[in-house]
Amino acid sequence: MSALHVQEGIQQPKQLSPYLKLKRKKNLSVDEFFSGILSGDRVILSQAITLVESAASKDIENSNLLINKCLPYSGNSIRIGITGVPGVGKSTFIETFGKYLTSIGKKLCVLAVDPSSERSKGSILGDKTRMEELSVDPNAFIRPSPSGLTLGGVARKTRETIVLCEAAGFDTIIIETVGVGQSETVVKSMVDFFLLLMLAGAGDELQGIKRGIMEMADALFITKADGDNIAKVATAKALYQSALQLFPKNENGWVPPVGTCSVFLNDTIANVWSLIIDYVKVTQENGFFEKQRAEQSVKTFFDWVNEQLKTSFYSNPKIENKISNLIPEIRNGKISPYQAGTELVKG
Ligand code: GDP
Repeated sequence: MSALHVQEGIQQPKQLSPYLKLKRKKNLSVDEFFSGILSGDRVILSQAITLVESAASKDIENSNLLINKCLPYSGNSIRIGITGVPGVGKSTFIETFGKYLTSIGKKLCVLAVDPSSERSKGSILGDKTRMEELSVDPNAFIRPSPSGLTLGGVARKTRETIVLCEAAGFDTIIIETVGVGQSETVVKSMVDFFLLLMLAGAGDELQGIKRGIMEMADALFITKADGDNIAKVATAKALYQSALQLFPKNENGWVPPVGTCSVFLNDTIANVWSLIIDYVKVTQENGFFEKQRAEQSVKTFFDWVNEQLKTSFYSNPKIENKISNLIPEIRNGKISPYQAGTELVKG
């Protein structure tokens, strides 16, 4: 049971106040969701995220209305993406880093983008049980990745959840993902700062993580810089520093640094935050911060239109019929795939 629930239990009067009645109501109206979110009510925020994640057509309509209402109240946060291979220490880092952030007065929201969470049940990112202390921190809100969706679906729901959380007053958003696939590109397209966590290995540091992911990073931190690991971490740091120098210069005037951190050394955790603050300062001053957000919105627009066009095109019965006629001809070599494609698109 969360601290919030315990508090409610103590304060609950015999006669329910209109406020608590609202909380218990099953089907809140869009306006009730909206005012609950603006007042920072976490129970209503959770319910609103569930609404946004729902595939029912009535919910989609309400969720679009709600997002539009919340949009003018969103945007006032620093959005941080965190990635790294399983075992690098992401959840431990987010737990420690998150507690540090709330201790300096931040209101933190932790979300996850993990399209695999449905298949590999045990590895759900952002799982509350993996961040025990943070999940009961009254200034932190943790929400696991929506399940049962494609990567595009997860991306959309996460973007909308960011809007709701920002409208609810969260000023720091962390989005966790796993460093093995396409989900990094998606997370990169919704955050201001992208942090790559890396392990110090035995000479194989550059393996296992794609070069493209390293290129996306605004900072690279080697985890577990403590105890017997310190020498290995120093070697890895030098290696990554020279690897990053080979990458083309960023247009944002920021040179991604390589740092080291340990959840046992508080100053290394505080360093990560001061680095992010430096980044925000540099990029806000040179205009990149706002420019990146604007470009992300335009990209989101095109991604969404492309997805909608694809879905409506393929679900058209005439097209379905044409495809089933064309496929045997493509297989038999009677028609080239390009000609078949051109005919199909012409309609
Ligand atoms: P994730 O899969 O990336 O989320 O990794 P976890 O957070 O589950 O951590 C994997 C393992 O590394 C756990 O056993 C942690 O206790 C350990 N770990 C995480 N951070 C540190 C650290 O800073 N120092 C040390 N020594 N161990 C750590």
